[in-house]
Amino acid sequence: MISITPIPAFNDNYIWLLDNGEQAVVIDPGCAQPVEEYLEQKKLILSTILVTHHHADHTGGVRQLKQKYQCKVHGPANDPVSNLDDSHKDGDLLTLQSIPLTIEVIGVPGHTRGHIAWFIAATAHNENLLFCGDTLFSGGCGRLFEGSAEQMWHSLQKFLALPDNTKIYPAHEYTLSNLRFAATLEPENQKLQQYQQQVALNRQENRPSLPTNLLIEKEINPFLREKSSTVINVIENRLQRSNLTPVEVFEEIRHWKDIF
Ligand SMILES: [Zn+2]
Repeated sequence: MISITPIPAFNDNYIWLLDNGEQAVVIDPGCAQPVEEYLEQKKLILSTILVTHHHADHTGGVRQLKQKYQCKVHGPANDPVSNLDDSHKDGDLLTLQSIPLTIEVIGVPGHTRGHIAWFIAATAHNENLLFCGDTLFSGGCGRLFEGSAEQMWHSLQKFLALPDNTKIYPAHEYTLSNLRFAATLEPENQKLQQYQQQVALNRQENRPSLPTNLLIEKEINPFLREKSSTVINVIENRLQRSNLTPVEVFEEIRHWKDIF
């Protein structure tokens, strides 16, 4: 049995930790201290660190954790990340020994040039798991710091091709503010309204809104809905243009969200 726990860090980051009761894997440790505290409390050994991209709030704790636990660090080949033992690119398969897992690397440039996501197909457990860093959030997607809208759109298409029951573990608790924007685009979307109420309740009780899953995101996330006729109409009206390509629709949604 594998447990998956969000360790809160900074204002709104989650450092996801997988463990089998003995060994642990963390994804994107932006700082070391809350990870160390959790490992000590649960008497776990950190064997692996996975990194999605180079930003400091995802990598700041890597050096200290690696020194303390002598764990292996895996990260993106095309992003500047220090302290890696192994670097990976789209299509690579990584097999862990400590917790027997095979992890697929999905190259998802856009937020950064070399951003990768880690996908674990349902083999050792019943669910597909996607650790997507700052590429996809619940109700939103990452800002385009280094890549183009077209690159990010292609990256998100790779996620859309995964099974609907894929559980998604983004690295930030941005859901409520993302959903306020989504509701501006699609005020009539009932699934979105229901989801918004559910997330608001969870957040009032200080529970994470995450993980989410691909089926929900397909219904509520405007960045995965650039083919919906409602969304297309809103964007065409906003730009006073017609016959937009899916990438153009996506690009305008991203631009609008940046200034929302
Ligand atoms: Zn980032």
